Amino acid sequence: MNRPILAAIVTQNLKDNLNIVKNITNQRFVWAVIKANAYGHSIKSAIDGFSQADGLALLDLQDVHALREMGWTKRILLLEGIFSAHEIPQVIEHECNLVVHQFLQLEWLEQYLSNLSSLEAENFKSKVEIWLKLNSGMNRLGFKSGEYGLAYNHLIHLGFKVHHLTHFANADEANIFPTVEDQWAIFEHTTQWMDGFKSAANSSAILNSPHVHADWVRPGIMLYGASPTGKHQDIAHLALKPGMILSSEIIAIQEITKGDTVGYGSRFVAKQNTRVGIVACGYADGYPRHAKEGTPVWVHLPSPTDHQSGVKVGLIGRVSMDMITIDLTTIPQASIGTKVELWGANNPIDDVAMFSDTVGYELMCAVTQRVPMKVL
Ligand SMILES: *Cc1c(COP(=O)(O)O)cnc(C)c1O
Repeated sequence: MNRPILAAIVTQNLKDNLNIVKNITNQRFVWAVIKANAYGHSIKSAIDGFSQADGLALLDLQDVHALREMGWTKRILLLEGIFSAHEIPQVIEHECNLVVHQFLQLEWLEQYLSNLSSLEAENFKSKVEIWLKLNSGMNRLGFKSGEYGLAYNHLIHLGFKVHHLTHFANADEANIFPTVEDQWAIFEHTTQWMDGFKSAANSSAILNSPHVHADWVRPGIMLYGASPTGKHQDIAHLALKPGMILSSEIIAIQEITKGDTVGYGSRFVAKQNTRVGIVACGYADGYPRHAKEGTPVWVHLPSPTDHQSGVKVGLIGRVSMDMITIDLTTIPQASIGTKVELWGANNPIDDVAMFSDTVGYELMCAVTQRVPMKVL
């Protein structure tokens, strides 16, 4: 028997979540965002789970290569474009859609084109469509509004097909500057005379701002069943389902009495007789080390009438490298070998993240290599 921790990826849930996006956006084109190894879910499961998406968006050419090897024939978008001119041949080979966010990238393209025969140049421009990125207030990547037209005209002059993209800083908050409205107005104004598709909405904007759905939406986190705000209640009405179920088992039990402590630093001090479950999952698996007392862990306790039933108990003591400790005092039925869910359908990842002052995004991306992954 191996160490019992497992990250199960539920392909059907990814499919269902994509369908929910399609429905709330009235069947807009969808870039399924699969950066960071599909938010920790693996590129392989992303291909299966998002087979109905119109394109996949990511950062790394290695992943692009893997996607094409695995048979993905639809669009692929490189969200940050090329990191050097050396990447251009692969961009052409794999027929990527390419973000251009600064003049340096434009120079690389122009330079590269100038060394091609006209036949090769036509091939390049027929295979690679450009998504020009506007910095509408995020101030991370993108052309400022005043430079955008110049970049656009330049790319059109070179003969590229050009589309438009921007990214919101505060799509999950109504009153923080710049608001979605501020950024959308700049995007609309800047691109109004230009041809091409427009794309702006991440998960938050998909959920909160239907008027900015534009031609292509770019959902990430919601496809994996977590909330862009970090609050599960904000997505509860949508019935999004978790892409990842992180589970393990109780591998030992300690009965302790009042005054006894648990784990490193003796953070937990028993106020009464306490039954402690030791679970095979620690920070070396990606479980957040900063998880506080009471972080929910779901314990599977099948009953004769409900085989899937269970209860949530709280984490006690510090998270170790390979183990966590949980309070089983209220559930004497739990024993060695009892299954627990660290996050998943019974224990939303957002709730776990909240207890570590982070968001589901970080937890799902942080599951480590040593955790076996099973794609269901
Ligand atoms: C990550 C990312 C997204 C997806 O964001 P979510 O909040 O996960 O929906 C969309 N667009 C760009 C440019 C991104 O980098």
